Amino acid sequence: QILSATSPNPNSVITVARAYSVDTTPIRATLFPGDGIGPEIAESVKKVFTEADVHIDWEEHYVGTEIDPRTQSFLTWESLESVRRNKIGLKGPMATPIGKGHRSLNLTLRKELNLYANVRPCYSLPGYKTRYDNVDLVTIRENTEGEYSGLEHQVVRGVVESLKIITRQASLRVAEYAFHYAKAHGRERVSAIHKANIMQKTDGLFLKCCREVAEKYPEIKYEEVVIDNCCMMLVKNPALFDVLVMPNLYGDIISDLCAGLIGGLGLTPSCNIGEGGIALAEAVHGSAPDIAGKNMANPTALLLSAVTMLRHLELHDKADRIQDAILKTIADGKYRTADLGGSSTTTDFTKAICDHL
Ligand code: NAD
Repeated sequence: QILSATSPNPNSVITVARAYSVDTTPIRATLFPGDGIGPEIAESVKKVFTEADVHIDWEEHYVGTEIDPRTQSFLTWESLESVRRNKIGLKGPMATPIGKGHRSLNLTLRKELNLYANVRPCYSLPGYKTRYDNVDLVTIRENTEGEYSGLEHQVVRGVVESLKIITRQASLRVAEYAFHYAKAHGRERVSAIHKANIMQKTDGLFLKCCREVAEKYPEIKYEEVVIDNCCMMLVKNPALFDVLVMPNLYGDIISDLCAGLIGGLGLTPSCNIGEGGIALAEAVHGSAPDIAGKNMANPTALLLSAVTMLRHLELHDKADRIQDAILKTIADGKYRTADLGGSSTTTDFTKAICDHL
């Protein structure tokens, strides 16, 4: 049941805030359990949510076995309609089907649902030792254009050309989301990452849009950092950064670099934000076919992604409770899956999280 449908920033292209009477009416959300370890870790999310009294009416959709002509991919039209209707969803890993004549699953989701921003909160997990214990940053990646426009061709034999597209509309949209996110989450600074000294027109336009949006948020500090320098600074001292916003390819690379700072993709949540207030949270790791069906998978990334889904719904108390239980379980160290150096099964690790709720 939607109690209010307000946007914190009525002038913005983003409509995010939707309040639900969670304790009385279940939230309806789309779930793509995905392939390989996907169903096992999706089960873990369902169990933890139920134990935490977060009642979600999951509408489950699987990747189809044939190409759906309406999506030109193995994703069914009905599954996309489900996300459009519910506006909130969780996606497990999907194995890329081999062969030609279909669109990639992730590309189909991005294009069909207009998922324009990929948001990855990245923070040190207490008790899980990496080189740093003070990482707390968020990367926001423009998700629809840049080098990923798919415009590549051969000019003459031995010469190929690839077009990088940057538009004012998409740049303003992602910059607006980044500043809105910073404000809504009590963050102090937004850094725009670029290479405008070389890509003067494309990254130049991206920066111009970021500056325009920055003026509307005087309470948030704004800075511009060249991407190569950004990589060095992140590796030397990640605490220098807070919220980072950047064009598509830079976001792809920097977000993985940041995941590496806290222990890898198995621990990193992500959420894709689309037009009309859609949020599709996803674990960014793959379907891990080597351990599928063996009750060995680590559900942390999908669980923390599900937590970002709750935050998107502004259910921060519920999100905090589940996030704390996950972090305590990892810090406690008694129950860890093999990828974190332990020997627990997915089931035991999940139970330990429930015990920490
Ligand atoms: P992968 O992430 O599936 O596996 C890499 C390694 O990490 C494996 O050893 C695996 O066991 C381990 N691993 C990954 N997630 C884990 C988890 N939650 N717990 C414990 N161990 C984990 O990458 P891959 O092998 O290159 O890809 C396998 C399939 O997944 C391919 O079909 C690929 O296209 C697909 N894929 C999908 C996505 C997505 O849906 N977002 C992302 C990456 C890869």
